[in-house]
Amino acid sequence: MLRLYIQMYRNGKLKMENEKLYNKKSLKAEEFINHEEVLRTLDYAEKNKNNLELIDKILEKARPVKNGNETHCQGLTHEEASILLACEDKNVLKKIYDLAEEIKHAFYGERIVIFAPLYLSNYCVNGCIYCPYHNQNHHIPRKKLTQEEVKAEVIALQDMGHKRLAIESGEDPVNNPIEYILECINTIYSIKHKNGAIRRVNVNIAATTVENYRKLKEAGIGTYILFQETYHKESYEKLHPTGPKHNYAYHTEAMDRAMEGGIDDVGLGVLFGLERYKYEFAALLMHAEHLEAVHGVGPHTISVPRVKKADDIDPTKFDNGIDDETFAKIVALTRIAVPYTGIIISTRESQAVREKLLKLGVSQVSGASRTSVGGYTEEERPTETEQFDVSDQRTLDEVVRWLLQLGHIPSFCTACYREGRTGERFMSMCKTGHIQNCCQPNALITLKEFLMDYASEETKKIGEEFILKELDKVENESVKKILTNNLKEIENGKRDFRF
Ligand code: SF4
Ligand code: SF4
Repeated sequence: MLRLYIQMYRNGKLKMENEKLYNKKSLKAEEFINHEEVLRTLDYAEKNKNNLELIDKILEKARPVKNGNETHCQGLTHEEASILLACEDKNVLKKIYDLAEEIKHAFYGERIVIFAPLYLSNYCVNGCIYCPYHNQNHHIPRKKLTQEEVKAEVIALQDMGHKRLAIESGEDPVNNPIEYILECINTIYSIKHKNGAIRRVNVNIAATTVENYRKLKEAGIGTYILFQETYHKESYEKLHPTGPKHNYAYHTEAMDRAMEGGIDDVGLGVLFGLERYKYEFAALLMHAEHLEAVHGVGPHTISVPRVKKADDIDPTKFDNGIDDETFAKIVALTRIAVPYTGIIISTRESQAVREKLLKLGVSQVSGASRTSVGGYTEEERPTETEQFDVSDQRTLDEVVRWLLQLGHIPSFCTACYREGRTGERFMSMCKTGHIQNCCQPNALITLKEFLMDYASEETKKIGEEFILKELDKVENESVKKILTNNLKEIENGKRDFRF
């Protein structure tokens, strides 16, 4: 009896401590990604996964609501979304997919933004065991681009038609200090080759200091992206046995420092396959809720990479891999839970997988990516220094044509941050659905530029017909007039119009 009492007392005390510990407004990683809160959520989801009445209520709550010329969506909490993820009912899955499509259409229309990664350096002092750049990999060639090489890579990317890059670099204070990254950003923005220009540089570098984030902001970056890899602290520490990245709290709190440094567009991401996906999904949404609660702005983007084969890396060694169906469900539920956040899918995924996910909520794709340092200037795709195996190896022209044939508008738009529509300003336009008045015309303008400057004859023909049809759909007469004029001006050789 006494033992039972002690146990009950301990449970109660533990619960109170957990309640005290979980705090989405806290700036401490272990409080806003509180392990016990994740476990409690998963337990609650498991218990309610067949509660169809509750599930219908959750789906109803998430539905877009029209109010005059505005559309609003409430999104879902990590707890609600986790119940939907746990549910295995086939009818519910169909409802989830339908709702994800409806939300995607309401807030993003048909545009799909295209970008490319640019690898600057694979020198890295960390020991991440899922990445070929880990510092114990002594046989991978190490390479860091000189400014001349950055220039050559950027020209190659511009010649394909890219306007938006995500720069990638390993963590190495000696080889890749912040000054090197800043110099590269400066070089990238300075190159104007023929009609080409990189108009937005997103940055995917290691967690750093507020001061360095401030420098990145001043250099004119778009989004700061940092994948959490896994939110499970114990696994995180095992997967990152050495180097500064071993510090879970420093890594998890990076977005708060980035925002303190003035960067208001940040991109989250989980590397699916490292930990149990239900844990990651709940924690990822908790991270989004934390950013919203503390900074008033949720994540600008969420990336959903899966562990892939690479030099020294065998994905089958990670026993939490997820199949394509589960992956699709995660993407659809992310779209429903955080309707205003862009979802990014890379060329890690095959054409077939990407095709399915586009409908369910993905808003950005990479195209013609080379994931090696200096890969774009080589004739053949080099694999020596690849960070991961590229499944979708099509050219940018093929990717653009494919999107058009699927009814999507391939977009090279970079307008928002150049017009100062970032952070809260961006989110308020997004949350009313008004951003579509910019996205659609900007997609058509940048597609027209691509068709004029870089497309094959076949893509050009399909694209021109597509633009005419889309132009017809523009309801706002003044937007239509300006857009028609811009498209003509592009034919006459002018570039870089935007709404
Ligand atoms: S994931 Fe990033 S930090 Fe880790 S080894 Fe690879 S490049 Fe370095
Ligand atoms: S208008 Fe803004 S949100 Fe829309 S595609 Fe362009 S940059 Fe993205």
